[in-house]
Amino acid sequence: MALTHYACTHCGGWILWFDSREPVACPNCTDVRNALPQEDFTYLPIGEAPGQFSTQWQETLPGLWEFWTTPQLGLGSHGWLLQRDEGNIAFEAAPFYDEASRRQLAVLGGIRVLAASHPHGYGALWQLQKFFDPELIIHKDDLKYTKAFRVNHPIDDFHAIGAEHEMLRLGGHYEGQTALYDHPRRILFLGDALKIDFDAAGVPVALSCHKGYHYAIPLTRDELLHYREVFGRFDFAHVCTPFEFGRGVNQALATALIDYLLTHGIHTSPVPLTSLQAYV
Ligand SMILES: [Zn+2]
Ligand SMILES: [Zn+2]
Repeated sequence: MALTHYACTHCGGWILWFDSREPVACPNCTDVRNALPQEDFTYLPIGEAPGQFSTQWQETLPGLWEFWTTPQLGLGSHGWLLQRDEGNIAFEAAPFYDEASRRQLAVLGGIRVLAASHPHGYGALWQLQKFFDPELIIHKDDLKYTKAFRVNHPIDDFHAIGAEHEMLRLGGHYEGQTALYDHPRRILFLGDALKIDFDAAGVPVALSCHKGYHYAIPLTRDELLHYREVFGRFDFAHVCTPFEFGRGVNQALATALIDYLLTHGIHTSPVPLTSLQAYV
């Protein structure tokens, strides 16, 4: 029986399933870390995506390209492309890549290494794998979520990509949630280890930590301590989540949030950056 890819329109995650009938349920949405759709599941077969959705991109920082989809598909993940002389790294993925974005990715040098922090950043990784045949890296503890593509390089808790990029397991939100540090640009791609609240002008104003966002499930003390250890290793100036660029969310602010939560009690409410200044 032939297989095809369906996007869950609620979360935007892709499911590989029989082309003769829709998937039974979305594994992302039935997970305790996510909400269920209000009514029932609805799916978008890949054949119906072109024309309904288009892919946008911008150069967010020199050599750092950001891709997303309009209108928003599901949670609206953003994919990142880091240009490198040794071959580009793509981290996380937009929910859909149209023909124009595929050409743009090729113009930018294609993809040598493809990875993601955790399932909320997977987007259409499977399309990027199909187009560019990169080395596809995922932490071994998240392999169970990767049915829509083929991981050809499972990793342990530490992995170096050349001399300037390192991947470290964060855990917490997802068992295998893994950060990528880009030394040249001082950016930590940290999955959903931090949730950033922005003001109307797009400036970060508050931070929070979650095991599960929708049910407001906090992290454990040991999970927070592990986040702190990973944050402490890198002198980052900015962060990238699977959804946005956190300009100025640096190592001092990120570690200050952990110290704040360990001091005041662990919760999931946003902590204003002004409250964190005393811990910086
Ligand atoms: Zn879903
Ligand atoms: Zn997440």
